[in-house]
Amino acid sequence: MVEDLKTEDEGNHGNDDTRCFILSTLASQGRSKVQCVLCEDYLLVFDRYPLVDGTFFLSPRQHAKFCIEVKVEGRLQFLSCVCMGCLEGVSGKAVSCRFCNANWNGSSLVLGTMYSYDIFAAMPCCVERIKCNSCFKPVLHPVQRLNFFSDYSHMMPCPHCRTLDTHFVKPLGYCFVQRLIRPLSQRP
Ligand SMILES: [Zn+2]
Ligand SMILES: [Zn+2]
Ligand SMILES: [Zn+2]
Repeated sequence: MVEDLKTEDEGNHGNDDTRCFILSTLASQGRSKVQCVLCEDYLLVFDRYPLVDGTFFLSPRQHAKFCIEVKVEGRLQFLSCVCMGCLEGVSGKAVSCRFCNANWNGSSLVLGTMYSYDIFAAMPCCVERIKCNSCFKPVLHPVQRLNFFSDYSHMMPCPHCRTLDTHFVKPLGYCFVQRLIRPLSQRP
């Protein structure tokens, strides 16, 4: 069964619809845990807010095989999760752009709830992040930015080749590097 959910652009954090949507989606899959799309650590999901030690988000792209397919307002999306350690870049989990080295920082995001857009696409740091997925020319002017974070998760036509795609939502491994540094004592 596919749950349907009405989402606002930026808001509705901590409401009951979001909570029920996540819990029923996980229940339909028989899961009580989710995995972080970056470090793949397991996170327990609670039935009260904060739902998770990290945050959920919806992406039009399946970032990892364990992200769950859902239909939201008629659009196919994937329920995804990032752990708090990766959001805050702690203990060697810092994430940076492969192209410009800018740190990606999710520490301003509300923990334990769900964003209705791809949180990685929402803040493009450099021109590589705004390029067309087909012709690799910039979809936006280098200094142009969209009004809402959620706008970067929507389909738009490339002004050059006309390909309709979610151009800003790119594979995480293509855009980002994360150096998982093990404690010195565990090194051989
Ligand atoms: Zn993580
Ligand atoms: Zn960058
Ligand atoms: Zn194009």
